[in-house]
Amino acid sequence: MSGGRRFQTCAAGSTLNPLRGKIKAPARTCARRERILTMPNPKRRHSKRRTSLRRSHDAITAGALSECPNCHERKRPHHVCPKCGHYKDREVLEVKEAS
Ligand SMILES: [Zn+2]
Repeated sequence: MSGGRRFQTCAAGSTLNPLRGKIKAPARTCARRERILTMPNPKRRHSKRRTSLRRSHDAITAGALSECPNCHERKRPHHVCPKCGHYKDREVLEVKEAS
């Protein structure tokens, strides 16, 4: 980058800085000067409160369960019963008995 002193930073390789070696600036001052020379940016997009309020509705809940009409186990609605393999009052799956 070309330009005047305004665009020079204190980073390594700052051979362009005419004051280098003449002024013993502590690192804090150097960092502050660099922060002033960079473009302004927002610290965060949304506040913590706004993020927290949005996430207050993000909790997951247990899915709905219905009762199997064959074995009366609780099963997922519109799914084959994993216990007896029935769906809509007929057997569609052979279920292996857990031994
Ligand atoms: Zn069942």
